Amino acid sequence: MTTIGILGAGQLGRMLALAGYPLGMRFRFLDPASNSPASLLADHLAFDYADISTLEEFAKGLDVVTYEFENVPVETARHLEKFVPVYPSPIALEKAQDRFVEKSFFCELDIPTPKFTTDINIAVDLPAVLKTRRMGYDGKGQTIIYSTAELENQNLNEMILEEFVSFDRELSIIAVRNKSGETRSYPLVENHHRDGILRLSLVTGNVSEELQQQAEEYATRVMSALDYVGVLTIEFFEKDGQLLANEMAPRVHNSGHWTIEGAVTSQFENQVRAVTDAPIGSTSPLGACAMVNLIGNVPDVKSILKIEGAHLHLYDKAPRPKRKLGHVTFVEKDVETLQKKLDCLKEIYDVL
Ligand code: AMP
Repeated sequence: MTTIGILGAGQLGRMLALAGYPLGMRFRFLDPASNSPASLLADHLAFDYADISTLEEFAKGLDVVTYEFENVPVETARHLEKFVPVYPSPIALEKAQDRFVEKSFFCELDIPTPKFTTDINIAVDLPAVLKTRRMGYDGKGQTIIYSTAELENQNLNEMILEEFVSFDRELSIIAVRNKSGETRSYPLVENHHRDGILRLSLVTGNVSEELQQQAEEYATRVMSALDYVGVLTIEFFEKDGQLLANEMAPRVHNSGHWTIEGAVTSQFENQVRAVTDAPIGSTSPLGACAMVNLIGNVPDVKSILKIEGAHLHLYDKAPRPKRKLGHVTFVEKDVETLQKKLDCLKEIYDVL
């Protein structure tokens, strides 16, 4: 029996465990929040990530540790490595936790990004986006700057200023690599956000072969450079047929939830396979797919389930504005049918 330790017991951890149980895996979670979405599914130690003294206890009997959350302190991941292999390697956390380090890393690998600087005295084209270097997610810690005067009122320590990209659309690639270096990618996902939060992901075959290859090439470059093991997500802006890397997540990703029902092997199962050095499963899609995040409120559950083919996932979280409480996935034979299903959902939920 293989036991996997997961840092973070949120919905991603919960879906990892749900994917791993059929493969005979066991799980143990570490997350300071005691009432977490994954708590009901497995052992859960509610220790602080930074409490190094408790890590040996967490690691006892584990075969491997992974994470569902990229803001785990790097020292915690490194300390755990003394007792048990940790995948992806903590270097991936280091690269992904700081937007400046991350974008500089993309540049080293010749992966195009929006222009960026931490030297606010350098003249930048406006508008620009001012972001915290660390801990920003779902659009938190971001401000659009329209005039240089606005910069004077900002605390610019630990900030990064980026070119505002008037992109054509946002896309993400989800790739996976195991210890043997076997690598696969899912089709590029088209993502739609509201208030900086992902709301709708679509996989409808509307991405050119060239763009897909480019994205896969970039993901492979990142994974090779880090000798990466696990699922990696890179978010891009598409502008005039080119990809600009915005950020990466060294973990399973919200824009990959559609893979649970919509791909031969889900991103969660592939993460479990990768970190246990099993062969990677097929990443082929099974149809035209849409994933809608349920944010802030969940519409009447029976009304959702009444829509033929609706796959509902609820995360067991208390409703709160801007909180991801669940998602609905549709996998249909063609885009027209998919659109009809989304229209049905729109009658009871503000999809976008
Ligand atoms: P992030 O936290 O970097 O993923 O940003 C959240 C969302 O804000 C992105 O998905 C985009 O919709 C938007 N955004 C972030 N950076 C930029 C940028 N440089 N230009 C235009 N929009 C951006």
